[in-house]
Amino acid sequence: MASTEDFFAHLRTELDGIRAAGLYKAERIIATPQGAHVRTTDGREVINLCANNYLGLSSHPKVIEAAHEALRTHGYGLSSVRFICGTQDIHKTLEQRLARFLGTEDAILYAAAFDANGGLFEPLLGEADAIISDELNHASIIDGIRLCKAQRWRYKHNDLADLERCLSEANEKGARFKLVFTDGVFSMDGTIAQLDKIREICDRHGALLGIDECHASGFMGARGRGTHEHRGVFGKIDIITGTLGKALGGASGGFTAARKEVIEILRQRSRPYLFSNTVAPSIVGASIAVLDLLEGSTELRDKLEANTQYFRRAIQEAGFEIKPGEHPIVPIMVYDAVKAQQLAARVLELGVYVVGFFFPVVPKGQARIRVQMSAGHVRADLERAVAAFRQAGLELGLVK
Ligand SMILES: *Cc1c(COP(=O)(O)O)cnc(C)c1O
Repeated sequence: MASTEDFFAHLRTELDGIRAAGLYKAERIIATPQGAHVRTTDGREVINLCANNYLGLSSHPKVIEAAHEALRTHGYGLSSVRFICGTQDIHKTLEQRLARFLGTEDAILYAAAFDANGGLFEPLLGEADAIISDELNHASIIDGIRLCKAQRWRYKHNDLADLERCLSEANEKGARFKLVFTDGVFSMDGTIAQLDKIREICDRHGALLGIDECHASGFMGARGRGTHEHRGVFGKIDIITGTLGKALGGASGGFTAARKEVIEILRQRSRPYLFSNTVAPSIVGASIAVLDLLEGSTELRDKLEANTQYFRRAIQEAGFEIKPGEHPIVPIMVYDAVKAQQLAARVLELGVYVVGFFFPVVPKGQARIRVQMSAGHVRADLERAVAAFRQAGLELGLVK
């Protein structure tokens, strides 16, 4: 019989294994609010190119003021789940505002998008049904699907022919309802799902379509409504999940937006909604202010788009290869994992905060530095960042 001490020794061995494989995730510590510039605990100020702060709202004065105001008017917390005594007027307002922003009938809040995805599938679908999921979908979607009894298909990433194959198989097997689910934008490559084509395929096969908009809500599309707007299918997506923790303010919280029947069932049966605390009033108030800002003007998403176009061009002119695309996620390809780490470390020394990604986060031989643009960056920030990459790249022999 193993002792409890054996258990802790076992964990230490596991941790050693993670370190030996070079997969140990150390957390860097920031001593300032999130922003285009941050100070690390060693006192250095660096340009930040790795936050999901796409619109620069994490520390926006209007957002902070709205959070203060909600704290004053609605208190610190509700000490309750929604259905007992955790629903305030502002929670209902935010749900209505999210639905309007995203082009759906209704919306429901969660503590996180992870919970929105985790609690989505099981209440809606059962053994008779089919879920068809992109193989590179976010971990929370994978977990949510695991909790559901529906039959599962995985299609090759972004591969429409393989999606068709899965739908045909599901039909042959007599699946009752079919739900295709995909990230609107995939975070490692910035790949934008082909929602117009996927919608057409779903319609032909009688399937519902759901998308996770965590890397899209607030800035993709002409009015920043998301990937569905970008791809010309606004109002035509059956289920949208997303986060308040990235472009839409950056605190925390998630949501599902859909037809009212879907939202009503989720309020009755979705376990992370039923059994987890309500979103704090300060976050709710600030999120409403974020939607006011974004519905009032496209200035921030336009600035983000301009920054993205500038950086994508300039970093290539500096000799680097990037994954082509238009998303503010810009993967700078290094391929070799050690080189990617060296480049990231040197660029950080030069005052630009970036992180290298390598196996198993991305496939072997596909190491990269993934940078993310923000509307909070000014042109001089991006010029300095490109110059740092250029200098580090020359030193390491990565560019000519
Ligand atoms: C970040 C992210 C999530 C999780 O969002 P949280 O609100 O932080 O839980 C879910 N799905 C995708 C695609 C994400 O990028």
